[in-house]
Amino acid sequence: MTTHLETDEHRALRSAVAALGNRHGRDFDREQLWSEAAELGYLGVNLPEAYGGGGGGIAELSIVLEELGSAGCPLLMLIVSPAICGTVIARFGTEAQKSEWLPGLANGTLTMAFGITEPDAGSNSHRITTTARKDGADWLLTGRKVFISGVDIADATLIVGRTEDARTGRLKPCLFIVPRDAEGFTRRRIDMELNAAEKQFELTLDDVRLPAGALVGDEDAGLLQLFAGLNPERIMTAAFAIGMGRYALARAVEYARDRTVWNSPIGAHQAIAHPLAQAHIDLELARLMMQKAAHLYDAGDDVGAGEAANMAKYAAGEACVKAVDQAAHTLGGNGLTREFGLASLITAARVSRIAPVSREMILNYVSHQTLGLPKSY
Ligand SMILES: Cc1cc2nc3c(=O)[nH]c(=O)nc-3n(C[C@H](O)[C@H](O)[C@H](O)COP(=O)(O)OP(=O)(O)OC[C@H]3O[C@@H](n4cnc5c(N)ncnc54)[C@H](O)[C@@H]3O)c2cc1C
Repeated sequence: MTTHLETDEHRALRSAVAALGNRHGRDFDREQLWSEAAELGYLGVNLPEAYGGGGGGIAELSIVLEELGSAGCPLLMLIVSPAICGTVIARFGTEAQKSEWLPGLANGTLTMAFGITEPDAGSNSHRITTTARKDGADWLLTGRKVFISGVDIADATLIVGRTEDARTGRLKPCLFIVPRDAEGFTRRRIDMELNAAEKQFELTLDDVRLPAGALVGDEDAGLLQLFAGLNPERIMTAAFAIGMGRYALARAVEYARDRTVWNSPIGAHQAIAHPLAQAHIDLELARLMMQKAAHLYDAGDDVGAGEAANMAKYAAGEACVKAVDQAAHTLGGNGLTREFGLASLITAARVSRIAPVSREMILNYVSHQTLGLPKSY
């Protein structure tokens, strides 16, 4: 796929990352790829140069994730570590937090996970109950989280909670950096039917004692600070989905060009060719919206980026699920063999439809925010 909406630097980045991805491929070793991508400066392309980053934005980071995904080796932690955590710390962190975390997040020696989802809140994050109470200069953090990715490989997790005096009502979130081995911070791996290098965990925080400096930015910054991280998360999830969709589509096209069971390759039958062409169009359209969202976000338009990032995530998630489904179908029985590697993508693709915000919640957002329709909940 090519696009002329990107600069020469963007195109050079795409092809360099694609070359790295193609050297690793679908059987990639996550740690090895992470450290090679780090050495080449790809993990922190969006982080400020003053802290060892590349000085670019989410446009660049999304290119990195999309191209790795399209080579079959997406690094899921790019969505959380540099995109959410790195962005929030760079924009709102204290000087001490920036110097402690950003250089490591940029060069890949430090990784940070992100935890907002709770068992009893799910899509309704206004209902989260993880609560921080003051104890002298310290904070004590108590609550539960679920489906949090990569907590075992991350040095810390950025936990979204609320302060005791804002315990109920509309969410006024506050963000805490919780080190992996903090006392009272325990994790249980969730047995997911996903063939991915990164695992998901249920977390329990039982009076986890944190110093004042663990609170990112300002206790009163609220939703503004949280959304500074959630919009990049949506844009990056779109990149993840588009990369995976491209990978699956390419495998199907290769197969359909050669596989012959009548007089011509199966790709000559329009019943096989057209759905693949549609999948390509849908992925291209999703990417266009992703580029718009990244452009708005990097230009500082948080409100415009919010709508575009939601729409990009929706479009990319749907395009990915359809592309993977059609790709597996194109291979007939081979679509379900381990050798061809598409069957496991059928579940993996669906992650982009449910996380970090589900298809239905985006349709709700567009219904209410964009179209001004009334709310049912
Ligand atoms: C592989 C994976 C990795 C993840 N990683 C992370 C992570 O690192 N950090 C993190 O914080 N979270 C993570 N999540 C959690 C993810 O963000 C949530 O699963 C997601 O937000 C949905 O929440 P839920 O699973 O509780 O579903 P629920 O909120 O219970 O929703 C269930 C269904 O009901 C629908 N629904 C709910 N409310 C409405 C409504 N008002 N209108 C219409 N339909 C509605 C939803 O669309 C969905 O289809 C991850 C999830 C997965 C699967």
